[in-house]
Amino acid sequence: MSVFGCIVYHHNLWLVLLAVMICGAGSWVTARLVLRAFATQGMQRVGWQFLTAVVAAADIWCTHFVAMLGFEPGVPVAFDPVMTIASLLIALVGGFAGFVVATSRIMRAAPALGGAIVGLAIALMHYTGMLAYRVEGIVSWNRGWLVTSIVFSVLFSALALQRAHVAHARAERGPSIGGLADRKSAHAAVPLIAGILAFAIASLHFIGMTAFQVEPLALAGDFTNPAALHALALAVASMALVIAGAGCVSYLLDDSVRAESVEHLRTMAMSDMLTGLPNRASFNARIDAELARTDDPRQLALIGIDLNRFKEINDLHGHHAGDEVLRILARRLQSLVREDEFVARVGGDEFVAMQRFATREALADLLTRLETALYRPVRYDDAEVTAGASLGVAIYPDDATSKTVLINNADLAMYRAKADLTHAVCFYEPAMDEIARARRSLAADLREALARGQLSVYYQVQTSISTNGICGYEALLRWEHPRHGFISPAEFIPIAEENGLILSIGAWVLREACLRAVSWKPPYKVAVNLSAVQFAHADLPKLVETTLAETGLAPERLELELTESTIFADRERSLAVLQRIKALGVNIALDDFGTGYSSLDTLRSFPFDKIKLDRSFVSDAESNRQTTAIIRAVLALGKSLEIPVLAEGIETQDQLALLAEEGCDEVQGFLLGRPAPLDQIVASGQLTIAGEAVGAAAS
Ligand code: C2E
Ligand code: CA
Ligand code: CA
Repeated sequence: MSVFGCIVYHHNLWLVLLAVMICGAGSWVTARLVLRAFATQGMQRVGWQFLTAVVAAADIWCTHFVAMLGFEPGVPVAFDPVMTIASLLIALVGGFAGFVVATSRIMRAAPALGGAIVGLAIALMHYTGMLAYRVEGIVSWNRGWLVTSIVFSVLFSALALQRAHVAHARAERGPSIGGLADRKSAHAAVPLIAGILAFAIASLHFIGMTAFQVEPLALAGDFTNPAALHALALAVASMALVIAGAGCVSYLLDDSVRAESVEHLRTMAMSDMLTGLPNRASFNARIDAELARTDDPRQLALIGIDLNRFKEINDLHGHHAGDEVLRILARRLQSLVREDEFVARVGGDEFVAMQRFATREALADLLTRLETALYRPVRYDDAEVTAGASLGVAIYPDDATSKTVLINNADLAMYRAKADLTHAVCFYEPAMDEIARARRSLAADLREALARGQLSVYYQVQTSISTNGICGYEALLRWEHPRHGFISPAEFIPIAEENGLILSIGAWVLREACLRAVSWKPPYKVAVNLSAVQFAHADLPKLVETTLAETGLAPERLELELTESTIFADRERSLAVLQRIKALGVNIALDDFGTGYSSLDTLRSFPFDKIKLDRSFVSDAESNRQTTAIIRAVLALGKSLEIPVLAEGIETQDQLALLAEEGCDEVQGFLLGRPAPLDQIVASGQLTIAGEAVGAAAS
């Protein structure tokens, strides 16, 4: 037997539909709000929890109220105002408690538990509301339906919040940009959550109404004015929709503010603060995207741009001027880019440009535009400055097939443009730029070489012709590269001079040579090569003095070799430096004589202790009569200035005989001994190390 069987109630269909609509719309907004409550923290979360509770309470209460107004039991009805309002408060307080618990993260079951509380609140609200419902008749309750309705409400509310939690957690694990992406993905679950919640509310109401039975006392006729009830229902319904709408709007407002600030953050992260141009991060993103495109058959040109006179402008006119120049140039660059083109500022005075091009003309056109913009004078205050720039172009995929190589090649081309005063733009050319690349990579390796113990000093014997005895050894630097093996100092010393590494390396060689030579027996001299850069930059006399003091080598046992070009760089200063070094008691030899200026003037202006005749003369001498004449002249010069001459590069007996015949004082070369590590020289018995047994050296 069913309750439906004995009593047939009328429902006003329109109002029931309205109730269902409120229920659905309210649940929808509630679902969105509760997801937001899940995603926020602290006071913000409390705010969202409260807003959720308000919307949910309005949703629940209005659904109930409108449905009740649509319920026509066939007898006069009335509502108790106090109980009616109490029921609304129950929905509000219970809902708030439920949402607080559900979004609290205090335990795994919190969402379901909070949902259950919301479900209970719905039930409590409904039955309190029913107590407020006064009908003229005998009311009885079917306990089965009553319990069923509560169970439905609790279970489905719990399920709804459980789903909300799952959707949130899943989105949180996914990728996120400023918290925006995750919320979008959580929102996919809104229909499900809203549906379950609406079902919880509706099922409670309608099952609850099934449990509600009225035996009319009076007969039909004396009804409460239905029009008034309907008006009330409409008023309540609009209230519900207004509240849900307000909740929805607050949500959307927050969303757009959030989206705006995320967008703002994104722009800030991707653009350069000073000029507003895209920055390096933006450039990286763009080039990645361009290289990932497989649909575009056109080539991609990457143009590295480095201002020529930025430092000068900064130094001359101050940093404000520098900044202003950058801003103006950036504006010009920004305004010259067309479709498929891109410019960014990637460093202090470095920019890049990119272009997808179909024809070389299009690329040439961009380059002209860039050049014009960068070479047009910039007005600052009353001054007019021209920054100018060097541009290096590398083309994908012709010049490189990967991002790093492409950027690198554009840089190499740009360096060439920088070095070449006649060309502002250089295209990457493998033949020329690969040499530069190799040099750069060697330079990077050289930076580590000293610390990693890859540098060592070899020694080459210097012999007196008259006595046939050893006079000393020349210290020659060696670099054993982990991959390339031994690299000639002729190759890496110029690199070290370029980047200043020669200062630390040179100091190390000097110290190393002195330290070793101290314990040589007999106490032969040690010759150390000096670079022009060491002359120009370091306080050389001081370095020599402290090195001698620290190693304990007698000054007269040290000979420093330098070339004429070293002196020519800054004649006055060089000569002053040489005087100071010589004053320490150290010997000075003029290296590679005959290759440079070979000026008498140099020889006259400073009392050198030795002239080293370059080995090119020796190797030439046997076949070339002219060279023999030069050798003779140099030897005569040495005699007249009373400076001994050492001939380098003696490889054969004939060469040795020739020089002996011409009256040369000393010789050095492979014939007499190749540069070798010290232990090898010790092992050969040429010298011993003080403190080591002679026998040990011989073995
Ligand atoms: P350098 O000062 O003229 O040194 C003599 C060079 O001639 C050495 O080359 C030596 O190995 C080579 N040599 C010696 N005898 C012969 C021979 O009979 N035949 C031939 N063909 N070559 C001979 P290395 O060691 O390769 O050094 C090259 C240059 O690197 C040196 O020329 C010197 O200018 C520079 N260098 C070497 N060590 C240092 C250093 O510690 N500091 C500085 N600043 N420069 C160094
Ligand atoms: Ca030398
Ligand atoms: Ca030499």
